[in-house]
Amino acid sequence: METTVIGYPRIGNLRELKFASEKYFRNEISAAELEKTAREIRAYNLELQKKSGLDIIPSNDFSYYDGVLDTAFMLNAVPARYTELGLSELDIYFAAARGYQGTKGDVKALAMKKWFNTNYHYMVPEVDDETEIRLVGKKPTDLFREALEKGIRTKPVIIGAYTFLKLARYKGEKTAADFIDQTAAAYSELLDRFNGLGADWIQFDEPSLVMDMTSDDVKIFESLYEEILSSKGSVRVLLQTYFGDVRDCYKEICKLGFDGIGLDFVEGKKTLELVKENGFPDDKTLFAGVVNGKNIWRNNYASTLLILDELKKHSSQIVLNTSCSLLHVPCSLANETLLSESCRKHFAFAEEKLSEIEELRQILEAEYPLVTEAYRRNSALHSEPRSGRNDSVREKVSSLTEKDFVRLPEFAEREKIQKARFNLPLFPTTTIGSFPQTAEVKAARKALRTGEMSSDDYEKFIKEKIAECVTQQEGIGLDVLVHGEFERNDMVEYFGECLDGYIFTEKAWVQSYGTRCVKPPVIWGDISRARPMTVKWSVYAQSLTNKPMKGMLTGPVTILNWSFPREDISLKESALQIALAIREEVLDLEANGIGIIQVDEAALREKLPLRRSDWREDYLDWAIPAFRYVHSGVKAETQIHTHMCYSEFADIIRDIDNMDADVITFEASRSDLTILDVLKENNFRTEVGPGVYDIHSPRIPSKEEIIAAIRKMKERIPAEKLWINPDCGLKTRGNAETVPSLINLVNAAKEVRNENC
Ligand code: GLN
Ligand code: ZN
Repeated sequence: METTVIGYPRIGNLRELKFASEKYFRNEISAAELEKTAREIRAYNLELQKKSGLDIIPSNDFSYYDGVLDTAFMLNAVPARYTELGLSELDIYFAAARGYQGTKGDVKALAMKKWFNTNYHYMVPEVDDETEIRLVGKKPTDLFREALEKGIRTKPVIIGAYTFLKLARYKGEKTAADFIDQTAAAYSELLDRFNGLGADWIQFDEPSLVMDMTSDDVKIFESLYEEILSSKGSVRVLLQTYFGDVRDCYKEICKLGFDGIGLDFVEGKKTLELVKENGFPDDKTLFAGVVNGKNIWRNNYASTLLILDELKKHSSQIVLNTSCSLLHVPCSLANETLLSESCRKHFAFAEEKLSEIEELRQILEAEYPLVTEAYRRNSALHSEPRSGRNDSVREKVSSLTEKDFVRLPEFAEREKIQKARFNLPLFPTTTIGSFPQTAEVKAARKALRTGEMSSDDYEKFIKEKIAECVTQQEGIGLDVLVHGEFERNDMVEYFGECLDGYIFTEKAWVQSYGTRCVKPPVIWGDISRARPMTVKWSVYAQSLTNKPMKGMLTGPVTILNWSFPREDISLKESALQIALAIREEVLDLEANGIGIIQVDEAALREKLPLRRSDWREDYLDWAIPAFRYVHSGVKAETQIHTHMCYSEFADIIRDIDNMDADVITFEASRSDLTILDVLKENNFRTEVGPGVYDIHSPRIPSKEEIIAAIRKMKERIPAEKLWINPDCGLKTRGNAETVPSLINLVNAAKEVRNENC
């Protein structure tokens, strides 16, 4: 039995790519030096995968920023505003990824969106009526050659034609269907090139197949691949799906001329059923995604063998595979020096998953699989009782009733009471919470960690930063202030550290977008609040100003979604346990005089099931109540804000209103403000702050630009419900761009306010 993986993390074992790229952005190293780091990462990954015994090793899973962006560049789908800048190829690429502001021009980045149900973000390709899709990029073939020179005949990984066309944003009259011929021709040419290079397998990633598909979608898919596969030569084509099952097109894909089909047996609720009911074509290889590419727990070999036993009845050619790219898990447990052995043995990161795949192969090939050493060790691990149980939390969760999820009085009455209490001007200005996490702040946290700074000195330092931040905001003229979140490494990890039931890693970074990585904490046991988490900072910050100071928390759904979740209890149970803890903090803040409390649900939409039919039952039916429970106990005059890091909630707009927050801020600037119409049509009740500028880019928005955005907002949203703020936290930005941006924001708000009065 052969083995493979869908893709390997590309940021480098110790985030080498991130650091090199950031140096490149700051002009500290040359393009050649950045390229050298990239080559070293690829060589390291290839070597590691080879050493682990993997038969089919991926290539082109490397990217300087994002794989979808790479595909757009490969296919000539790059808006002219970037190519016209007259920059080097690499810098045009980074301009599309990050925006560009300099001597050659001033352009915003492409839009960025969550990659299916993960916390990875891809760049949204833009296609207009003039776009001519054709194969122009050489990266896939270059990287194939690079590996070949090292003696490894890799499996190039390419975002598939259908997924590319589905993810692209169409700016003109034309739609995906109008680009079928061009796209198919480009992919056919790519196959030709790989034939010429002697590739054995090529993998087309088509995660869009696990979404709800209409019959037109299926037709587009068929048209594309009938054409692409019609002259494919000797290279074997693998259709790789992941993040779910392909129930809407299973029969159709089985009929097409693929040589292999990759299916996800971890997240695909119906995948096994599909194979059992319809069989699997004899002429194809089944790439069985049985090792979870998204979570960090050790595979349960007993359950995996059951799946494989079943599959063997339907296919004689099976390749062992991960369920999705390992991009979504950290690189290696070897980087963790502080984990206790009792925890560590339950984990498998990317590198360890390679060994799991190899072990599974050996078990399957053994004459008596169940008595192999590897199998026995694994089943002992899975039958061991785990620490971290908390019966009182479990009881509290099970005794919650309907009324625990309802805040009284109702929204409209609270709105009146709060307007009277805070007496804010029209279009109140605020920020989302964090202020720039400068090198100084990071250094202090590091010094605290290593013991070079005492906790008293650290506390003093953070308080100084808070004081500076308050003065800064008062100077800028913002209406509702924040303390700046300097004490936080990360909006989830920080809370995890104050909660019982969590454990942490040191270097377990996962790419979130571009050079940005996150280090999700691990939910190990039942969750409870060990101590107040933010009260001290918020109370101190409030003591420095007469303006309202927002308390700043992360909500239960986001904490859960940005952690590695348990697999032994349900997500709902975990969410409610966390909600219990955050609610205690909310009430604590309120009791300590904090009048406005923001509970960020940045990631609420992230784990929305990909198929609409699963939305309520599998997710919203517990996620929205978990949020409501967090704030249902506060007084009418306490204003609850929430924040979301995206604006695609048109389809769950009612649910979002139903979270019953008083104010919601969200990203809007990158998505052309289209959400505003939806808010209007739905009579959105919650007050809103659709971000007026994009903080993901270092460019400074002009006052005029912000005024234009506010005017647009004002046309759709009642003035008395409109807040003015950036579209997300400022922690990744520098002060150099933050201060002028916020000054422009405040001045823009004032100007529109004056027009209105
Ligand atoms: N309050 C958080 C911050 O400003 C929110 C971050 C986020 O939405 N990702 O950093
Ligand atoms: Zn955000």
